[in-house]
Amino acid sequence: MKINPKAIRELFPIMDELINDEKLSYLDNAATSQKPYSVLKSIQDFYELSNANVHRGVHTLAERATTQYEEARAKVQRFIGANSTREVIFTRGTTTSLNWVATSLGEMVLEEHDEIVLSLMEHHANIVPWQQIAKRTGAKLRYIGLKNGKLDMEYAKSIINGKTKIVSITHISNVLGVINPIKELAKLAHDNGAYLVVDAAQSAPHMKIDVKELDCDFLAFSGHKMCAPTGIGVLWGREKLLEKMEPVEFGGEMIDFVYQDSSTWKELPWKFEAGTPNISGAIALGSAIDFLENIGMDNIHEYMQEIVRNALPKLQAIEGLTLYGNLEDERSAVFSFNLEGIHPHDVATAFDMEGIAVRAGHHCAQVLMRELDVPATVRASFYFYNLEWEIDHLIETILKTKEFFA
Ligand code: PLP
Repeated sequence: MKINPKAIRELFPIMDELINDEKLSYLDNAATSQKPYSVLKSIQDFYELSNANVHRGVHTLAERATTQYEEARAKVQRFIGANSTREVIFTRGTTTSLNWVATSLGEMVLEEHDEIVLSLMEHHANIVPWQQIAKRTGAKLRYIGLKNGKLDMEYAKSIINGKTKIVSITHISNVLGVINPIKELAKLAHDNGAYLVVDAAQSAPHMKIDVKELDCDFLAFSGHKMCAPTGIGVLWGREKLLEKMEPVEFGGEMIDFVYQDSSTWKELPWKFEAGTPNISGAIALGSAIDFLENIGMDNIHEYMQEIVRNALPKLQAIEGLTLYGNLEDERSAVFSFNLEGIHPHDVATAFDMEGIAVRAGHHCAQVLMRELDVPATVRASFYFYNLEWEIDHLIETILKTKEFFA
């Protein structure tokens, strides 16, 4: 089945907004996605019909809220091919998920002189938490470099070795759009006795994720990049590992018994979820998963590839435009570029005048910016509600911007 992007676009109320008297062309999807009516309604329905705290009360509303919250967890479990809901932990988003795994797994396995392997294309959320745990444990960070705008796998093979305890890599780069070979990295990590953590912030919204097929040990993603609201995300981990790991936050909801000097934890996944969770957010994430699955993740992926096939050659044909990242392999519809002699922020401001929302800056990837030897780039990132006219509008606006600043 092919998707009908025009009909899908109508399910997103924000698309009717005029921006500077122009039709909105929202090309900042790598930062966050827009939300369809059904997801918005699920939030309103929760507060109008079921609002109560979860896991605490015996009254009807509390049971209703708990059932819906746990049903959302089961949807996530199916969405990522996890074995059990015990492996699905709700967090605030990818950043929290990565902080928790860095702290908890790091404290469990890292010793002085052990090595954590990252890559030069990581988002700050997949660098800074590891720097912190490295400082506390005396472990060292190593970075897989880039070659031809993608991960240098030969280099990866040379630095992932017996000293490596954890490899943590993004599935899809939020700047370059390249798709990293996760299965190959999983084999490399496991052959050397290390664990593989995957930052799926940019892949979970765009392709079918199956944690068993990826063979990773942990996976992190955010709801807001896949049609759900902000403030909800997921940390998935192998049950056997999560069982052994200590929680990172403590308090209500996650305890079994509390004594004056010690406490015991609830079973998985609740031992990681201290305090009142983002109940409506989790339910809305479940609704977003329903929405995406209704369209079909494979259909979304195929449509995004159509966008890449259409946009890439048009961008490449523009004189004075430098596109970053590998341009030959299959990639995601994230295009980072610079226009010769024009500051990325000026480009983004000029685009906004035409109704086009793009991001300009370092995209929380300063290590990568340094590697690319640029302070910033412009990033246009598409999703399945973007239409063909938006590619042409983007190209025309680039040409117009070039002319204006010439
Ligand atoms: N990792 C990647 C690759 C991202 O693109 C992002 C968000 O931009 C994050 C991590 C952090 O996600 P969040 O801000 O939702 O925690």
